[in-house]
Amino acid sequence: MHCPFCSAEDTKVIDSRLVSEGDQVRRRRECLSCHERFTTYEVAELLMPRIIKQDGSREPFDEEKMRAGFLRALEKRPVSIEAIESSIAQIKHALQATGEREIDSLSVGERVMEQLRLLDEVAYIRFASVYRRFQDLNEFREEIDRLERRPTPKSLV
Ligand SMILES: [Zn+2]
Repeated sequence: MHCPFCSAEDTKVIDSRLVSEGDQVRRRRECLSCHERFTTYEVAELLMPRIIKQDGSREPFDEEKMRAGFLRALEKRPVSIEAIESSIAQIKHALQATGEREIDSLSVGERVMEQLRLLDEVAYIRFASVYRRFQDLNEFREEIDRLERRPTPKSLV
C-alpha cells in the first residue's frame, strides 16, 4: 500500500492487532522512504449480492424491505421478534455465502418462503399467496395441500 505522505510504494507493517472484538485488524505501518507512520484497518468484505428483479433491473439488497415482508406476513401471529431476526440473519448469511455478486429476486423470495414455512404456516400461506400471485382458489388449495404433506418442525417434535 502506498505511503499517504510521500506515495512511496514500500511500507512495512510494524504492528498488527485484532480490534473490534476480532472483526478488524489494525496495522501500524512505516514508510521505508520518509519513515512516516500510519494506521490501516482491515475488515472482511461480506457484501450482499445485488438483486436482479423480474424485469431485469438491479437494485441493492434491502434488509428493511425483507423485514417488512416478514412482519406483514406474521402480523398478529405468535412468533417472536428474535425468531424473525434469526430467520433474516440466516437468509442474509446464505446470500453472502453464495459468493454471487447478483442474485435473482425469485431465489430470495424462495428463501423467505422457506423461512416463513418453518416459523409459521399461516404466515407462509399469506406470503406465498401474494408472492406467487395465486390465480384462483384452486392454486391456493393446492399450496395448502402441499404444505400439509410436507413435514413441519411441529410434527417432527
Ligand atoms: Zn512515505
